[in-house]
This record gives sequence, C-alpha cells and structure tokens, in this order.
Amino acid sequence: MNYNKKTIMDVDVAGKKILLRCDFNVPQDKKTGAITSDKRIVAALPTIRYLLERGAAVIACSHLGKPAATFSSYVKKQVEKGKNEADITEEEWRQSLRKLTLAPVAERLGELLGQEVIFAADVVGEDARTKAAALQGGQIMLLENTRFEKGETKNDPELARAMADMAELYVSDAFGSVHRAHASTAGVAAYLPAVSGLLVARELEIMGGALNDPKRPFVAVLGGAKVSDKLGVINNLLDKADTVIIGGGMAYTFAKAQGGSIGGSLCENDKLDYARDMLAKAKERGVELLLPADTLAAKEFSADAEAVVVPTDAIPDDMQGLDIGPETTESFCTAVQGAGTVVWNGPMGVFEFERFAGGTRAMAKALAESGAVTIVGGGDSAAAVEQMGYADRITHISTGGGASLEFLEGKELPGVACLLDK
Ligand code: ADP
Ligand code: MG
Repeated sequence: MNYNKKTIMDVDVAGKKILLRCDFNVPQDKKTGAITSDKRIVAALPTIRYLLERGAAVIACSHLGKPAATFSSYVKKQVEKGKNEADITEEEWRQSLRKLTLAPVAERLGELLGQEVIFAADVVGEDARTKAAALQGGQIMLLENTRFEKGETKNDPELARAMADMAELYVSDAFGSVHRAHASTAGVAAYLPAVSGLLVARELEIMGGALNDPKRPFVAVLGGAKVSDKLGVINNLLDKADTVIIGGGMAYTFAKAQGGSIGGSLCENDKLDYARDMLAKAKERGVELLLPADTLAAKEFSADAEAVVVPTDAIPDDMQGLDIGPETTESFCTAVQGAGTVVWNGPMGVFEFERFAGGTRAMAKALAESGAVTIVGGGDSAAAVEQMGYADRITHISTGGGASLEFLEGKELPGVACLLDK
C-alpha cells in the first residue's frame, strides 16, 4: 500500500474552511461520563494549532464510543443483552446518547487551546450547518458525535456529502480510525481534497517507512497472547523482515507445532498447521525465525506463583509458560541490538505479573538502547513500554490499537487510501 500521502504541510490551508477528523474517543467514567484521560485531546493540539495559526476555520469531528444511532438499533442491542423488549423506553435510549455527547470534549479542548470551541448540537443538522457557515478564520468548532448519525458506520454517501458541504478541505488525523471505512473517516474524501494531519503523517512516515523501505537488518518482535490475533501480522512481517522473533503466549503454539511438550501453556490447536506453514515460509524466504529455547513456567496463572526455568519443548504437564527464559531473553535482545529497524508487537510474557515481566522489560530496554528505528504497535505492548519507563527512547509508539495491527498486516487502510498522493 502507498503511504506517501499529502499532509497539511503540502497544501495551502490559509483561510480555508477545514473538516478535521480527530480521535476524541476518550475514556470516560462509566457512571458520570467524565473524561478520565485527555491524552487524545492533547495529542490533537499540534494539528489544530497549525491550522488555526494559519487562519483556517476548523470544523473538528470525531466519534465517541458506540452509540445506538436509532431507537430500533438500541432495542436490538438491549434484547441481545437479555433485556425484555417491552421494558425498553425511548427516554432510556436518549439517556444513553447523552452519555456519549462530545460536549465535555469541546470544553476540555477549549481549556487546552486557550480559546473558545464552539459546539454544535448535531453533526450535519441545522445547528452544525449554521455554525459552520458563520465560522471565521482562526475559530474552531466541534460537531456532535459522528456516530449519532446512522449513516456514519455505513459510510453513507449522503452523510459524507453533507459533512463535506460544510468545508473546502478534509484533514484526516484520527489514526485509530483509519482502518474503518466510515463517512467521516473515508467517505468525505470523495467530495473534498483530502490530506493527513500531523499525527497520521507521523504514523505513515515511520510505520510506512519501516514496512516499505526499512533500514536493515529489519527485526520484527512478535508476542502477546494469541496466534489467531496476529495471523496477518506474522505473515506480512515474514515477507518484509530479516529476522522474526516470536515470544509471548503464541510461541507455545509454535513449540507444539514442532513436536514439543508445552504442558498447560497457551496453545491454539487449530493453528498448529498455520504455525508449521509460517515455519516453512521463513525457511523458504531465508528469514531467521527465533523461538524461545527456554521458558519461565509456573504451576498456576498467578502473580505469586513460583517460577522455574524449563526448556520450552519440555514443559512439565502441570506447568504453563508465562514468560521467556533467561537464555532466550539474552538471544532475543542480542538480535535486537544489531538491528537497523525494529517493529515490536506483543509482550514477551504475562507482564501484568511482576514476576513474569522480565522478558518484556528486557525487550523494552533492548529496543531503547538499540540505536535502531524502533516502533511499538499494539495496546498492551505500548502500555508495557510506557509503564516500564522506556517510552521516550522509542522512535514511535503507534497510537491506534486495531489500526496499528491492520497496518502491520499490510492491509489497505480506507482512511489512508482516500488521501491525495504526494
Ligand atoms: P498487544 O495489545 O500489544 O497487541 P496482545 O493483546 O496480543 O498484545 O497480548 C497481550 C497479552 O498477552 C497480555 O495481557 C499478556 O499477559 C498476554 N501474554 C503474554 N504472554 C503470555 C503467556 N505466556 N501466557 C499467557 N498470556 C500471555
Ligand atoms: Mg491487546
């Protein structure tokens, strides 16, 4: 896929009316609806400031959560959850929507920017259109939750056109949503010239660069719980990398596929053939595939379980592997130290338990000290690197969970494909 896309720096934004898709899908307190982390709002500031400073009029938009856009879809969801259809009221549905309003985001964004953020009570309704038409250069407004419109997730052309009609240029800066073909993430680009904002531009430059033109040797480090979550990632990186390291829970499916005894370790028996295919593919392509020789195993899945080092292909029946062993940690980290580019997705063990966090911590340190272009993708991997204090020494921590994975799978991303080529 082509990641070489125009950004806001490649076009004239001065004085333009701009529809800016942000990722304001902030975490909220379940009861009060209060924003519990404004990290995503803060992350959006550089692009917003860049546009406002050049006299653009910014119409920002985002989705928040998963609202039911119609009463009938609300009823359907509730019935699936086991509720009695007769007890479900429209008032209850309206209340569920009020919890997902972007109004608190507009307020917080205003505080961070130090200027008023005009809030529209709808997406393409009377209020939004009136306020958008009156918006002046240097001003910013925020539309209501895009998923309040039922056409959003269906990528309805009518909705996309109505959104596009309010502006002259579309800027995509919600990396976490670029893998979705929705009206506000891709559909609008059919009606407006479309470029990336600074956040998406950085993701494309660094991750796209690593995939299409990596500084070699290119080492991919894969881990995490399940092979089935990462089928496409393993396959795509075997096409691109010089060395592929497999640790974490998914390594045991590979160990079993090679005839090892893995005790009660995580294993997906329906993926043994897939693992064998990947082992064969590595051989065929001359890719070095490293698997854990030793494992830190325990009798129970618990934080204070006693840990013993055992060979990965001879884990006792009453034990399960919860982290890579010391010999493996050393060989994996050595491979990373010589790399030109490292892409890491998936922890090396159950890092949530301190006793089994050693492999993941050593890997985070190895990346930080490698001197390579280092990229971390995946929610848990990013959390581990942050928790362990290495985040500021990693070249790039990708912010989109699902989007980063699809990126690493080499899939076509609708929210990127729709942007103008450079
Ligand atoms: P990411 O979010 O970075 O893509 P995953 O969601 O695939 O990563 O995997 C993270 C999870 O994998 C963590 O919760 C971790 O505890 C679990 N995990 C890693 N190694 C093991 C293991 N050996 N046994 C069980 N779970 C594991
Ligand atoms: Mg995860």
